[in-house]
Amino acid sequence: MLNIVLFGPPGAGKGTQSAKLVERYSLAHLSTGDVFRYNIKNNTELGQLAKSYMDAGNLVPDSVTISMLEAEVNKNPDAKGFIFDGFPRTTAQAGALDEFLSSKNTGISLMLALEVPEEELVKRLLLRGAESDRADDKDESIVRNRIKVYNEQTAVVADFYSKQNKFKAIEGVGEIEAIFGQLCAEIEATQA
Ligand code: ADP
Repeated sequence: MLNIVLFGPPGAGKGTQSAKLVERYSLAHLSTGDVFRYNIKNNTELGQLAKSYMDAGNLVPDSVTISMLEAEVNKNPDAKGFIFDGFPRTTAQAGALDEFLSSKNTGISLMLALEVPEEELVKRLLLRGAESDRADDKDESIVRNRIKVYNEQTAVVADFYSKQNKFKAIEGVGEIEAIFGQLCAEIEATQA
């Protein structure tokens, strides 16, 4: 199986690149943010639970997020592999994911991290907020809080994969196609 963690701060381009990677490698795309938004839209119990955290730009608690993620993986028993987008966001989530995947005799192949400077992120997110109905992209203080949460709680997850020699950083500023090409080159290098 090819299981990729696509990593990076909010606004780094994970969603855009995931869509392209899914098509190229026939993987299942699992975005925790998308699953939460779907649940909020449909007013499920999970959505009600996640909403206040998301609205403030904070992380949904690990226990909730981890069981949701495991359920989503289990919904795709025939997948050739997964792109995890927006997960893991804490070291506890990364540990849980390793354990869960090894119980299925598989594991993470590679973490690909998109690196983008903070002011560029803020610019991109506010632009997305103006063009979409994502409330967490409309307010600059919430956008900045998400980046702060990323720096304080999520950035450290890179070390988790770095210790396993699975971490690769890619410059996330430039042409979408050029960034995609670099991501593909890293994936193909691990398969060689
Ligand atoms: P972005 O990367 O632009 O912040 P996402 O769609 O990945 O967008 O996430 C939106 C929100 O969903 C986060 O701010 C957080 O509240 C929640 N969320 C998504 N993934 C996780 C996760 N793995 N753990 C905790 N909360 C999460």
